Amino acid sequence: MLLNTLCSIAFYCQRCGQIHIQDVPFFSGQDGLVVRCGNCSHEQAVLRVHPRKGLTIETVCGVCNRLNTLTYGLKKVRRLTFEKIYCRHDSFELGYIGEWQAIAEFLDFNAAEYEALHPGDEDNFMVRQQIFLEAMNRVHELVECRSLVCPCGSQNFVADIVDDLIILECTDCGSYLEIPAGSAADLRRLVPGFRADFILPDARRKN
Ligand SMILES: [Zn+2]
Ligand SMILES: [Zn+2]
Ligand SMILES: [Zn+2]
Repeated sequence: MLLNTLCSIAFYCQRCGQIHIQDVPFFSGQDGLVVRCGNCSHEQAVLRVHPRKGLTIETVCGVCNRLNTLTYGLKKVRRLTFEKIYCRHDSFELGYIGEWQAIAEFLDFNAAEYEALHPGDEDNFMVRQQIFLEAMNRVHELVECRSLVCPCGSQNFVADIVDDLIILECTDCGSYLEIPAGSAADLRRLVPGFRADFILPDARRKN
């Protein structure tokens, strides 16, 4: 890390799906520093460093399209090893802040894990994995708030993963539900009030 570096930062690109780690300098200029994707140059965030306020990050969430303004005190951010950056509207994971090395290790670990699950599919793996994990969280929440109930009245499900789908199967009657979980648009649908048509076990036998 260079001496004039405040911290490092990495955002998932909402256009091409890649993630790159970048250094945040102490001096970001009056207009702020625009962070762009290292692959497609899509604008990801605007950073400002104020002597008193600290580091301010403005970033738009790719899932809910709302602006986030996050502030980190200077003392805190210089001591920070690794922290996740979440959208404060819907808790979507936007990226990471901290030490370059710690972020790199986290990303390498995730890449290895994803590669083990999806061999040969390195393209956009980070964003897809991130969307998938978020979709799983949301499905859990929907079950907990009783937005997802099997037509038989049960809420005992087992989840399976097939390609970009989460398959939720009722352990009481065998009805199942295919939930698309491959894109930000799929995530936007996974909110309270989500409507889903379960496929009854009889329908499956015919196929
Ligand atoms: Zn990009
Ligand atoms: Zn959001
Ligand atoms: Zn059922």
